[in-house]
Amino acid sequence: MERIFGKPLITQRQIEKRIRELGTKITADYEGKELVMICLLKGAYVFFADLVRNIHISVDVDFMMVSTYGARASSSGVVKIISDLSSPIKGKNVLLVEDIVDSGLTLSYLYKSIKAKNPRSLKLCALLDKVERRKHEIPIDYIGFTVPNKYVIGYGLDYQDRYRNLPYIAVLDVSDIE
Ligand code: 5GP
Repeated sequence: MERIFGKPLITQRQIEKRIRELGTKITADYEGKELVMICLLKGAYVFFADLVRNIHISVDVDFMMVSTYGARASSSGVVKIISDLSSPIKGKNVLLVEDIVDSGLTLSYLYKSIKAKNPRSLKLCALLDKVERRKHEIPIDYIGFTVPNKYVIGYGLDYQDRYRNLPYIAVLDVSDIE
């Protein structure tokens, strides 16, 4: 992996530093409140595991699995909930954690569907924001990094279910995998 993907777009050290900052901000924002953090599987699991350990108030965690992309590296335009929340969130402060926002379709769809469950509050957090590609406007409350319009992998993000274990974010070089 190191050989194929060469120089990281975002290094492990940069990710760690930014997550500490996000954790500090989220801790301060939710001080004295109860917080439920939702991890969007599979892509956000690495980010989520690091983020929760940088939040210094007690949190409940839950998981949802959705799919937006098919086998190709382009949006199918359809959001499918493969696995839903395990507990009710009515009256709770909810923070939804995503790996990357591209067109914004996934988060705008999930925002509406989670809002319909009547949480006390709902905020969004994404490690990466591919802001140039936005089609569905959705306010993201906590953003790790803005990234260029390239297909990125690593740190939980995949290409055809591989490369999630790369410890940093890299740009997928298609010529290397063909
Ligand atoms: P959106 O619904 O915002 O268009 O797309 C969000 C989802 O598309 C993300 O959760 C992620 O699964 C996938 N995605 C978008 N861009 C990338 C990318 O550059 N790399 C990877 N691995 N997945 C991406």
